Amino acid sequence: MKKGQLLYEGKAKKIWESEDPGLLIAQFKDDLTAFDAQKRSHATGKGALNCKISAKLFELLQDQGIPTHYVRCLGDNEMVIKRAQMIPIEVVVRNIAAGSLSRRLGIPEGKRLPFALVEFYYKNDELHDPLINDEHALMLDLVPHEGDLEELRRLGREVNVVLKSFFDKANLLLVDFKLEFGRLEDGTIVLADEISPDSCRFWDKESGERLDKDLFRHDLGDVKVAYEEVLRRIQGVMGE
Ligand code: UDP
Repeated sequence: MKKGQLLYEGKAKKIWESEDPGLLIAQFKDDLTAFDAQKRSHATGKGALNCKISAKLFELLQDQGIPTHYVRCLGDNEMVIKRAQMIPIEVVVRNIAAGSLSRRLGIPEGKRLPFALVEFYYKNDELHDPLINDEHALMLDLVPHEGDLEELRRLGREVNVVLKSFFDKANLLLVDFKLEFGRLEDGTIVLADEISPDSCRFWDKESGERLDKDLFRHDLGDVKVAYEEVLRRIQGVMGE
């Protein structure tokens, strides 16, 4: 499948049109950014790792009945995806306190939460992706119906149930993660964007070692080595 016009370039991906109007091509970049892109770097091969990890996780979720935009892999760092209208909400699901939750509410990092916490953030770089509630989302017209927010929350929780038990088998704690959703032409809400160590926190169950973008955020180690390890463990659980 050949790439057409470049539709969008974000911090970690480029989205291209394809020969099929219903399908797009997502190309995963080797760039790393953190803290509103104030910190930047590059890790050759990171894009391919995130592409492979996302593909495996989308396949896993699709097998469990969760609709995604994923169609198939294309080369090392590209995947074919369904064209969808992106919903400008980042859905964050948390099992263990870390990052902005710990900073905002003073919950010690590493504390297990009594239930999976789902949060909505307004995806807007200029405003630095602020935390919002349902009424903000409706006021800003981020979704047309209140029921859509319930659907995002439900899908977030379902994804968490599947991924938490999957990563448990990979000897990793799924601390938290961010999801993005899009709407297909027929109105169906599907999981989109990516699920990778750039958008999740993974801690080794025994050592507590971090195997995610926090390594880059806080200069704690080699991102590529860690992402390779995440892929290796995913493949191990999938019996590959
Ligand atoms: N996250 C993300 N993109 C964002 C913000 C957060 O992928 O723009 C992910 C992040 O990697 C973590 C989870 O969402 O797995 C929760 O992030 P948090 O709100 O704690 O943000 P941070 O600590 O990065 O400020």
